[in-house]
Amino acid sequence: MTSKFENDFQIPLNPEALAALPFGDKSVRRLSDLKTYFLNVDKAEAMLQEDDPVVYETWQMEYDLDGSGLSIGTTKIYPGNVAGEFFFTRGHFHTDDIGDELYVPLTGIGVLALTTKDGESKVIELKPGDLVYVPGHLAHRTINIGDEPLTFLSIWASHIDHDYDIVTKSGFPELFFQSDEGYSVVKNPKFAL
Ligand code: MN
Repeated sequence: MTSKFENDFQIPLNPEALAALPFGDKSVRRLSDLKTYFLNVDKAEAMLQEDDPVVYETWQMEYDLDGSGLSIGTTKIYPGNVAGEFFFTRGHFHTDDIGDELYVPLTGIGVLALTTKDGESKVIELKPGDLVYVPGHLAHRTINIGDEPLTFLSIWASHIDHDYDIVTKSGFPELFFQSDEGYSVVKNPKFAL
């Protein structure tokens, strides 16, 4: 007989415990995968002559046992930059605007860039101890503005699909660079709706 309680779990909220869950997919994005997303593509090409660093890794598990579940993921963005532009995730919209998401920052310091399809944008800082709500109709990209890995847990309804095409074509309206104040926001000259 199958227990009604076999699918629950309780784990410590830290990156090691999350990585030990039976996450379905791990993906690794290197500089070579992301070079065209950076403003200074020539600098990225020059860096790739020397090395192809990991920019970020994601683990995700669709915990959708009876069609009503949640998906759980962790993202780890390494510290680094291309000509001063901090390492980031590619970013996406949720298909059909259906379904919001929660972020739980675990390590490091970062920013979350939120953008409408009309190019309006907002920036929210990510730091451990906060809970961040991400409305599903906004594109979201995360940027590591610190010198240690930025790690966060994300939770979303398993029915959500992801659209990477719009942000691949348009880019994000704002970019994040190193500065004496920690980071500065620069308008993306390549942004085009
Ligand atoms: Mn998302």
